[in-house]
Amino acid sequence: MSADSLSAVAVETVMMLVGAVLLGFLAGLFAFKVKSRWCPRCGASTDAVPPEGRR
Ligand SMILES: [Zn+2]
Repeated sequence: MSADSLSAVAVETVMMLVGAVLLGFLAGLFAFKVKSRWCPRCGASTDAVPPEGRR
């Protein structure tokens, strides 16, 4: 195995890790956004009305 192919594998591994971390981050962000669509106190949808307790 040459040094070039070794570094290529290293780059692939790093890219895979970055992709996994990014995917996890986006998944968490998406879950948070979905959760914030409903009022945490009464469970009503916050689509039309602004979230309560933010004055
Ligand atoms: Zn509410």
